Amino acid sequence: MAAMQDRIHDWVQRERAVILDSLRYIVGINTENLAPNGNERAGQLAVAAMLRALNCEVDVYEISTVPGLLEHPRYWAARPCTGRPNVMAIRHGVGGGRSLMFSSHMDTVPVGPDPWRHAPWGGEVADGRLWGLGAYDMKGGLVASTLVVKALNDLGIRLRGDLMIESVVDEEFGGCNGTLAARLKYNADLAIVPEPTNLTVCPAHHGGFMLRVTFEGKPGWSFSPEHPVDPIIAVAHFVNLLNEWAAHRMRTVTVPDIYRDNHKLPVLINQLKAGDVTQPFFADRVPGNAWLTLWAETYAGMTQAQVLADLQAFYRNAQATDAVLAEFEPTFTPIRWLDGSAFATDHAGVELLARLTSEVRRQPALVQGALFACDGHIFNLYSPTPMVLLGPTGGGPHSPDEYIVIDDYLDLVEIFIRTAIEWCG
Ligand SMILES: [Zn+2]
Repeated sequence: MAAMQDRIHDWVQRERAVILDSLRYIVGINTENLAPNGNERAGQLAVAAMLRALNCEVDVYEISTVPGLLEHPRYWAARPCTGRPNVMAIRHGVGGGRSLMFSSHMDTVPVGPDPWRHAPWGGEVADGRLWGLGAYDMKGGLVASTLVVKALNDLGIRLRGDLMIESVVDEEFGGCNGTLAARLKYNADLAIVPEPTNLTVCPAHHGGFMLRVTFEGKPGWSFSPEHPVDPIIAVAHFVNLLNEWAAHRMRTVTVPDIYRDNHKLPVLINQLKAGDVTQPFFADRVPGNAWLTLWAETYAGMTQAQVLADLQAFYRNAQATDAVLAEFEPTFTPIRWLDGSAFATDHAGVELLARLTSEVRRQPALVQGALFACDGHIFNLYSPTPMVLLGPTGGGPHSPDEYIVIDDYLDLVEIFIRTAIEWCG
């Protein structure tokens, strides 16, 4: 085994340029998820071609054709899926071993309005990092999984179990249709989802609740005896209230054991609309309404009804002491709910990933819940495939100048190759 470990380590070091070129190539393909229709096709065809060239059996399939998808309770009809193919590549084992799936999403968030120092589709290498939109979330993980196949081929290693490399569409912004279609069609004894976890082994992940809260006022301007009611003042008070609610949740929710050392449940405000901003100089009135959209993270087992009731009760309590909020009864409009999920930390797959991460990194691996929501719940709650998250080190997800750390990335590739060999046999 030691000889095999050395061969794998040497392969990764020797192939450093190929590894980075492969990632640069996929980062260089624009796959911004411009909701609702997406933009993954070119990326999916490219990764399918890569895997075909590595002698995998490759299935590029329209997700809308998967039986049971459109009727599934977790199918999100607001997100059209035509022209958005998933990719599944299988390197068949010789039989008698466990199957392993690496599952990644091809879509990235939109590049956004903020300036980048490094070209978003350039894949520039500088300062020990590879920069680019999606490098960290999660083309790094996707490309690392394709390189497992190349390593096994180059080293002449046959596995007993099947190795499955998957690239799905439309994961960002609470999309799960691609993953759901995939789990209705293909399953494995274990899945690794290489979302960016900074090399932490994560057998659990957050869920989240996207919610719009609208305050209705009385539009107008102040000519006595008119009395406009400005909903912007209410929103200002509500923003403060959300900070207090976030602190209240931190104190009151039941913290799963796997989050004992990293308990965080952020409440983020990602949109705020108030007043007519199309006017060139200024608007001539206080607006009739104002709203904000918030994202509240959750743990496995929480429900949308519980979280909404908790926020509404917190609002009602605040009305007793806040004269502004007392005047407003906002409308709470749910936009999207994603479940958190978790599976057993003593599962053989978690133990294997923790051991191999510790060995390759030469320090004890961190095993904790992931601090973000993702499509993992589709695996754990709606399929027979258990899922663990383990992905690259880096920064800037959903923001300018996203990157991965190259040396750590090579370690990740090494961990993945060794995991495939040990898991599949
Ligand atoms: Zn992601």
